[in-house]
Amino acid sequence: MTYSPHGKHLIAGQWHSSSQVFQSRVLTGEAFSFYSADVELVEQAVQAAEQAFNEYCHSSRQQRANFLRAIADEIEVRGDEITHIAAAETGLPDARLIGERGRTCGQLRLFADHILTGEYLDRRHDKALPDRQPLPRADLKMIQRPIGPVAVFGASNFPLAFSTAGGDTASALAAGCPVVVKGHPAHPGTAEIVAEAILAAIVRCDMPMGVFSLLQDSGESYVVGQSLVQHPMIKAVGFTGSLRAGRALFDLCVQRPDPIPFFGELGSINPMFFLPHAVADRGKSLAQGWAASLTMGAGQFCTNPGIAVMLEDTKSDEFVSSIAQELKTVSSQTMLTDAIAEGYRQGKSRLEALQLLQPIYCTDSLERQASPNLYKVNAETWLTNPDLAEEVFGPLGIVVMAKDLTDMLAVAQSLEGQLTCTLHMDEEDYPSAQRLMPILERKAGRVLANAFPTGVEVCDSMVHGGPYPASTNFGATSVGTMAIRRFLRPVCYQDIPDALLPAELTHLD
Ligand code: NAP
Repeated sequence: MTYSPHGKHLIAGQWHSSSQVFQSRVLTGEAFSFYSADVELVEQAVQAAEQAFNEYCHSSRQQRANFLRAIADEIEVRGDEITHIAAAETGLPDARLIGERGRTCGQLRLFADHILTGEYLDRRHDKALPDRQPLPRADLKMIQRPIGPVAVFGASNFPLAFSTAGGDTASALAAGCPVVVKGHPAHPGTAEIVAEAILAAIVRCDMPMGVFSLLQDSGESYVVGQSLVQHPMIKAVGFTGSLRAGRALFDLCVQRPDPIPFFGELGSINPMFFLPHAVADRGKSLAQGWAASLTMGAGQFCTNPGIAVMLEDTKSDEFVSSIAQELKTVSSQTMLTDAIAEGYRQGKSRLEALQLLQPIYCTDSLERQASPNLYKVNAETWLTNPDLAEEVFGPLGIVVMAKDLTDMLAVAQSLEGQLTCTLHMDEEDYPSAQRLMPILERKAGRVLANAFPTGVEVCDSMVHGGPYPASTNFGATSVGTMAIRRFLRPVCYQDIPDALLPAELTHLD
């Protein structure tokens, strides 16, 4: 079955058209017309979200859990149609999209389970001490409350798991916050059918209509996104994308008369440190692993490991040759958009123009295709040329050769904030790893041993964030149950009678 989009925006349960239209840019099949939103529609969607908040923020955890599960069910009902339209719009293979759908539904259900435990509310109670000297103590209760309407930007590289009903939306809805999504122009039909699923769940669960809105956007101007993050009723923003766009939107959030948190996940070069015993013992399999992780999904993952740091010796040279051999077996892959493919070519040209890198395996990428590229550089050059550490979004790797451990530690120390840092090591490497660990844990949201960072588990302990520029808020994660904390704030109730407290706080011992 195929889905034929009507191209409208969803606001408070109604589908709306607008004056501007754009065409979806599909790789296969028919392109469709979509309306592009404007400031007036932003206003309507945010007003509806604010109105819904007054009811939704008092919904029970059970009601919200049922709602999240209903969204997952409705997405599954439309499973094949979603895969079909998402494949046409993004060029991603069906298997990847089916996996991403599973992750999206799994995330929604995980948040349902998570809120039912109630632990995230972090309820606290300091009982009144009327006889305390020299001063009595009031009765003090604390709970985490939802913050208000949240704006979410659909991400180009995850049309399902980081878009319309993705992790940002799931965690905001779980917290009790209505959501206004700005769809990514790379996959408007996918956004629409997922919004249909959410609308069906709203109706089934009798939720306030304004709890979710979708605004489609041509991507020709930034007016919709900018007016959304600047709207006084929007209280936080969830974003996955480039440093350039993330920084621009972050600055707008900070410059508001009432600054709001901007939770931007902006990507990373995800350096890996290959320690010498591991390289000597299992260089070939490590090379296979890196090549697979670097080229997975045409390298379009924020956790793509672009940098490998190792000590200069013959085993490392063999290792580098093995990676080149592995990359030669990888055929070119379709990128998500023409702009991302062009960005990949420009990123490679920018690096080559610096004339600092030794090419190991270089290919040309044409039109919307991407083929892998591999370069080598010594640590001294790396350390004196920070431009080399700028992310190239795609399957491009750089091996950084360090003279000794001191050199390797200096490379680690020079890193900007990262989503992940990885150690590949054997037991004999532990003394070196112990020197690296205190540096790496200050640089990254997740530190891995003997693994590759692509493939982010959605669970309680996951941190998908990190110091700037990996994210704009290093106390937060955009994956895993802790993501809900972004959309909550603690409120203390002093001597407030039970009749006036949030239901969750009454009868607290
Ligand atoms: P993007 O350029 O970061 O755009 C993401 C969203 O931000 C779009 O919806 C865009 O709006 C909006 N935007 C961009 N610049 C803006 C500005 N100055 N002011 C307000 N809004 C702005 O991401 P993309 O289009 O998905 O891909 C482009 C590049 O982003 C990729 O080549 C890659 O380098 C990077 N990227 C990184 C990650 C990651 O690792 N976290 C994920 C995806 C993409 P419009 O729709 O109106 O254009």
